[in-house]
Amino acid sequence: MVRAIVGANWGDEGKGKITDMLAKESDIIVRFQGGSNAGHTIINNYGKFALHLLPSGVFYDHTTSIIGNGVALNIPYLINEIHSIVERGVPKPHILVSDRAQILMPYHVLFDTYEEARLAGKSFGSTKSGIAPFYSDKYAKIGIQVSELFDEEGLKEKIERICEIKNVLLEHLYHKPLLDPAELLETCHQYRDMVEPYVCDVSSYLYDQIKAGKTILLEGQLGSLKDPDHGIYPMVTSSSTLAAYGAIGAGIAPYEIKDIITVVKAYSSAVGAGAFVSEIFGEEADELRRRGGDGGEFGATTGRPRRMGWFDAVATRYGCRIQGATEVAFTVLDVLGYLKEIPVCTGYEIDGNVTKDFPTTAKLEKAKPVLTTLPGWNCDIRGIKKYEELPENCRNYIEFVEKEIGVRISMVSNGPGRDDIIMR
Ligand code: GDP
Repeated sequence: MVRAIVGANWGDEGKGKITDMLAKESDIIVRFQGGSNAGHTIINNYGKFALHLLPSGVFYDHTTSIIGNGVALNIPYLINEIHSIVERGVPKPHILVSDRAQILMPYHVLFDTYEEARLAGKSFGSTKSGIAPFYSDKYAKIGIQVSELFDEEGLKEKIERICEIKNVLLEHLYHKPLLDPAELLETCHQYRDMVEPYVCDVSSYLYDQIKAGKTILLEGQLGSLKDPDHGIYPMVTSSSTLAAYGAIGAGIAPYEIKDIITVVKAYSSAVGAGAFVSEIFGEEADELRRRGGDGGEFGATTGRPRRMGWFDAVATRYGCRIQGATEVAFTVLDVLGYLKEIPVCTGYEIDGNVTKDFPTTAKLEKAKPVLTTLPGWNCDIRGIKKYEELPENCRNYIEFVEKEIGVRISMVSNGPGRDDIIMR
């Protein structure tokens, strides 16, 4: 059985926590897109971890963690991340890396940094992890697949070709030092030795495991609104964040994905640039940011303060639809306990018309939020295990959101820990 765990919003919905929790009863967890540019925060019996590249299922000794072909694979980063969790007492995880995954090279990070500097104030708010240059190269067919590390002649040729193109840009556009093919080849040799123990024909492996009836989780990074096709283009990431892409980025049949658990946060937060209709500012935003997530809403990779907003039902309904959500995990609800009243964005006003349909970017830039205010519950709901034991106003908030988004909320997360969950 394959289940996807994906985000309906801008990312940071709490997918890591839900994955870590569901991994307990799963065999295999697969990352299928993205790279080390965003993080998942996980709190469990080993402590608090910020994972960037490893799937959030690595904390159990019965699970296999997979880096699928769709991921931007930063090899030294992966090796360091493995070391860093083992150092803290986590059993050495069983990890497989797809032989078709492509490698994020040091020059991708450089190009990301140079381009951000060149764009200055008009940048996309990149985390400078090299993700956009990496995926550009993949589709321009100058990427390096893991399998290519083991073909010395082909690799040499490819590196020459890469340097020809990159060095023109480095010299004439960025005015930076050029790439040296011999040095890049040496880097690739080091990467080959580091990754060799983990390399696997992942799609064939997963085919057999599915046939054997294993439980597989596909863990998404970021959320619907950061998808390059269906998100707020161009303020998006460079690989698809949708469950449908899970089939491609892991190498399995699309019809094997039976359950799409879409993670929705009880309020909004976003990093980077782009329209954010229900955004709040000033003291109101600072307070929510301070109280948000676990210890404040700051990027797990960059430490940047996240932009804050009220729950956006328009964006979330769309985000769930485009994911194909079969159920919703509603997270970080406990954080809203301090509010007497809770505004929810239930419509967008664009050029004088109110809509509930999420528009394309140019129209989105013009949208003003239509807010509906719900009464708060004004107490701490952490520790509650049963739905009926939640305060009435809290249940009303959940049921209001459920109706707005049109997908069943099957789990309510009321704290960052593994067991802070209410099954409905
Ligand atoms: P991801 O990228 O979707 O995995 O999300 P992140 O891990 O970046 O952000 C979620 C943050 O919220 C983390 O700091 C989690 O520890 C925290 N978190 C997750 N679920 C809950 C919850 O129900 N309540 C609270 N207070 N924090 C939560």
